[in-house]
Amino acid sequence: MKTTDPVDAARVQLLLGELRLPAIKLMWADLAAQADKEGWPAARYLAALAEQEIAERGRRRIERHLADAKLPIGKTLDTFDFDAVPTISKAQVMALAGGDGWLEKGANLILFGPPGGGKSHLAAAIGLALVENGWRVLFTRTTELVQKLQVARRELALESAIAKLDKYHLVILDDLAYVRKDQVETSVLFELISARYEHRSLMITANQPFGEWGKVFPDQAMTLAAIDRLVHHATIFEMNVESYRRREALERKKGPGRPRIASLEMLPDTEPLPHLICSRLIFGSGGGDEAGHHGDAR
Ligand code: ADP
Ligand code: MG
Repeated sequence: MKTTDPVDAARVQLLLGELRLPAIKLMWADLAAQADKEGWPAARYLAALAEQEIAERGRRRIERHLADAKLPIGKTLDTFDFDAVPTISKAQVMALAGGDGWLEKGANLILFGPPGGGKSHLAAAIGLALVENGWRVLFTRTTELVQKLQVARRELALESAIAKLDKYHLVILDDLAYVRKDQVETSVLFELISARYEHRSLMITANQPFGEWGKVFPDQAMTLAAIDRLVHHATIFEMNVESYRRREALERKKGPGRPRIASLEMLPDTEPLPHLICSRLIFGSGGGDEAGHHGDAR
């Protein structure tokens, strides 16, 4: 049986360091011992090493993308209780989490629902799954991104700031309806939506239906134009459910021996979400099934 010469071993270590092949550097000696013992052809040994390096690069790339995505920690699809949100289909969410069929064509995902209904959790969880599947994602509070874009505009660099976001297949704008046009100059948000239209995807969470978005954009024409672009290719989830936090608190309170609370309806609640108004219904824009196989813009 052949064995590794110590002088060769030392040279290999040096050369692999020089070539920046850390996974091969780590693995080559063990694999060499196995290859020598089992009499592998040289090509099989080389292929096994190359596979290790490629797998390691893939892992490191995903780690980098994950750090770059700025997702809230601990919000995963595994920890999302789909039974609590009967209006959405787990199968559809799982399909979206693969990314295929919507991210290539720059389609959008919009999550509506009252506070505490799980919008941010679901958005982050889908984002995480997408990163793990090799897509680039950025999660941001809408107000924060609007402020950054506004600074860029003041520095006459809005276009390049928006273009920089092109590297993300998906930008998640959390809490869009919290943005107020009187606090910030929100036409930058419209510029972003326009630039990504049919090109790069947006995921939006909002606790206000489209009918209230007039408070976000500078004027009605811009509001309608923004909504029209967003819904043209979009899946819309209405998560019109009881606050998860409050339900959990109630479950804890119910504990053994305590009087049961007769029903959740007895408790004061947030306003129910007014019926969703979709710009396509208002304007009859497009028509037809633009949303593709993955969903529908109702
Ligand atoms: P929203 O963004 O709609 O206001 P969040 O996603 O922040 O709501 O949810 C509030 C809290 O409740 C978070 O800690 C979240 O993880 C949890 N939560 C909400 N809905 C669910 C759910 N269906 N399954 C598991 N946890 C949930
Ligand atoms: Mg939220």
